[in-house]
Amino acid sequence: MASRDDRSEGISRREFLKKAAVGAVGLGAGGYIVNELSKGKPESRPNGGSEVTAAPSELWKWSREAYDYRDLGGTVRCGLCPNTCSLQPGQRGICRVRVNHGGRLYSLVYGNPCSVHVDPIEKKPLFHFLPASKAFSIATAGCNLRCLNCQNWEISQYPPEETENGELFPDAVVAGALQQGCKSIAYTYNEPTIFYEYMYDTSVIAREEGVRNLWITNGHMNEEPLERFCTVLDAANVDLKGFRDNIYLELNGGSLQPVLKTLKTLHENRIWFEITNLIVPTWTDDLDVIGEMSRWIVKNIGGDYPLHFSRFHPQYKLTKLPPTPLEVLTNARDIASDAGLNYVFVGNAPQLQLEDTICPRCGRTVIGRAGYRITENNLQDGNCRFCGEAIAGVWM
Ligand code: SF4
Repeated sequence: MASRDDRSEGISRREFLKKAAVGAVGLGAGGYIVNELSKGKPESRPNGGSEVTAAPSELWKWSREAYDYRDLGGTVRCGLCPNTCSLQPGQRGICRVRVNHGGRLYSLVYGNPCSVHVDPIEKKPLFHFLPASKAFSIATAGCNLRCLNCQNWEISQYPPEETENGELFPDAVVAGALQQGCKSIAYTYNEPTIFYEYMYDTSVIAREEGVRNLWITNGHMNEEPLERFCTVLDAANVDLKGFRDNIYLELNGGSLQPVLKTLKTLHENRIWFEITNLIVPTWTDDLDVIGEMSRWIVKNIGGDYPLHFSRFHPQYKLTKLPPTPLEVLTNARDIASDAGLNYVFVGNAPQLQLEDTICPRCGRTVIGRAGYRITENNLQDGNCRFCGEAIAGVWM
């Protein structure tokens, strides 16, 4: 670990971290810390819920006592997410990464990511936050939801002993971000809430080094840890997976209200965020409900946070469904725009070319995009170059 003393010896913490990155995980003489750490396939099928399994001994190297739980006299109740798991000694939470060990709750994913990449920030997606910058992206095993259409089920629906992990403690994550010229660290791919201690501690160090923190999330985090996290968080993309409780329960194993509460909390804390809504045929493609959702957003948090509709493609347990029809996506976009949302995009459907930022006043293209690439930028000091309209976002 770098310490404050490094500065007094004439080496800044930033320089120390850059040097530390070279040997941090031993992934090459060139000092590249980034690698595909999760190439192995899990050996067993995921089970459906919480399980009684003590942690294998090798996992304790990457354990930390959890920040949010209550000791109920041997049983512990996790306070991190709305699942509020009550766990007997030896039992793990629904997320598969938190275990009651001797009456204390431990995270088993502190410093053992199974996926580490450098991504364009547009991939998160974040379109109105430091465009064209790079995000150092990490994930661990586990998740607190059970989406039937999960894109990353090979890591999210398994415990950490069944994914292929590397070792990357918080200092080394920040070092990697600096070394790779990334302006931000994205906690992403699986649900980062379940590796809260790792994410939070990394975020504190990143903040000190001028690296931004991005939370790519399903929004299922309880109020107290979220308020704490907001002190070091810079931006988020929140999946609003639908607008009906019964669909949330059946499709995702979650619930709607915690996500709406998260959106309000981020708004109140002045954290920049964008919303993603995946339109799944027969599940979340009701245009009346999409209209209701859009009006809720405008009424409760305003029309300036970007909304990304995303096209479903068959995967995981929903392989028999077709991709979302293009017409449904364009109709959804029109409905959301009519409801008062100023920045509405359609992702995973490049043929529609609906990923440009359009000025809400003059209708000209302010930022043009093709895939994750910026093709034109007509932003001047955060304003539309053509008419001077302020474009909501974090640009500098
Ligand atoms: S973080 Fe995990 S252990 Fe804690 S309440 Fe959520 S699912 Fe349960």
